[in-house]
Amino acid sequence: MEKFKQLGLSYEILNVLENAGFKEPSEIQVKSIPLALAGKDIIGGSATGSGKTLVFASPIIDNLIPNKNVQALILTPTRELAEQVADSIRKFARNKKLKVLAIYGGISIESQIRKIPYTDVIVATPGRTLDHLKRRTLNLNQVKFLVLDEVDRMFDMGFYRDVEMILKQCPKERQTMLFSATISPDIDYLSKKYTRNAIEVSVNSYVDHSKLKQIYYDVESHMKFSLLVHLLNKAKTGNFCINSSGSQIKEKNNLVMIFCSTRRNVDLVADNLQKVGINSKAIHGGLSQNKRSRTLDEFHNEEVNVLVCTDVAARGLDIKGVSDIYNYDLPSEAKDYIHRIGRTARAGSEGKAINILSNRDYENFENIIRDKCLNITQEELPVFETIRLEIDAPRNRFRDNQRRNGNNQGGNRSNQRREGNNRGRSFGRGNNSRFRNTPRGINNNSGGRSHSRGNFGRGRRY
Ligand code: ADP
Ligand code: MG
Repeated sequence: MEKFKQLGLSYEILNVLENAGFKEPSEIQVKSIPLALAGKDIIGGSATGSGKTLVFASPIIDNLIPNKNVQALILTPTRELAEQVADSIRKFARNKKLKVLAIYGGISIESQIRKIPYTDVIVATPGRTLDHLKRRTLNLNQVKFLVLDEVDRMFDMGFYRDVEMILKQCPKERQTMLFSATISPDIDYLSKKYTRNAIEVSVNSYVDHSKLKQIYYDVESHMKFSLLVHLLNKAKTGNFCINSSGSQIKEKNNLVMIFCSTRRNVDLVADNLQKVGINSKAIHGGLSQNKRSRTLDEFHNEEVNVLVCTDVAARGLDIKGVSDIYNYDLPSEAKDYIHRIGRTARAGSEGKAINILSNRDYENFENIIRDKCLNITQEELPVFETIRLEIDAPRNRFRDNQRRNGNNQGGNRSNQRREGNNRGRSFGRGNNSRFRNTPRGINNNSGGRSHSRGNFGRGRRY
């Protein structure tokens, strides 16, 4: 605790940290908590899971005098992250009288309207914040602390217009703190625009290679699901087993997240995993907020071991016990990859990132491994049983689309042949010539999300 004390934190916070079993501050905390407490604007970059929430929570908890006006606004890209950050601040502020409220869409606005007049700190997604501002149910005139968590995402095309409108309504006299694990030069201009003499604190390396092992398998597209099931079974993750009284219980408590690029693939994979007896649930932006929250709670409580998700779950979520991250579809950018795999190996624990590549992922994979900080090694394909991926009646449209697009998730002979020929390539950094034959843009075929920026509606379509 002595090291935390030296950062200038109040007794009230130190007491909470001690009870939570925190032993010593992380590097980003050592470097930036004193600056944050001194009221400096900060642009902070450090690895996923390195404790950035405590950094921006510290001055809010220690320097804000509660008066039931909204004095701190923290914006996050997803509803789940807003809820989590609000919860963390409430915990860190347990010894202070601070009212913290999460506001986001997909749930009733009325109860938020009733609570805002008693609130000191708001953690919110941009869309619902704007709704409140338009209805004049939220006033930001008294904001003294402004935080953009996952700032690079908040400055993305999909969010930026909303964020800009919100920031315009905050007083100029304020402390602004911007944080992410992936702060790149392309957000320099906007970061400077919204801060004053900000101090840039950057702790190198997105990924701690000693804690996080990253591997990839190169497999024919139609064998992806079979390989996934084989690997999950081998790790005995989320399997049901029958206990002595004859009821189904889960076998092991390690948690797994499987990322897919589209809502359809998420549903498809989650449904099919259920069918083969793997305790899985889906989470994506197309589900009701109620369902999203319930599923995430079940995952937190280990009632569900396997969460199949879109990038809606890639940013910021801190779920204890997540040991393995699978990329069933590879994301198109290294930045997204880093956030996905950052759901494991958090706060000093260990984890594994497993990438299941097929022909249509090659181009994305090339983009990802161009980032020199990532070290992903190829793993030999094991011998595994073929399992047919079943596409349910409601998703026949999907199968039709896939056939039309030549995407053989459901089985397309000619494509299988082509993919078979392309298998076994070795991936090298910055050498595109070997992949000239990779079909371009084929990822768009798997439905839903388009990669062209500016094509998103409000926020990003996860
Ligand atoms: P980030 O925002 O950098 O991804 P979080 O703020 O979500 O990371 O913190 C990740 C996890 O680590 C949380 O469960 C948090 O309570 C815990 N944590 C933060 N700081 C420390 C610390 N100094 N020691 C131990 N655990 C910590
Ligand atoms: Mg965070």
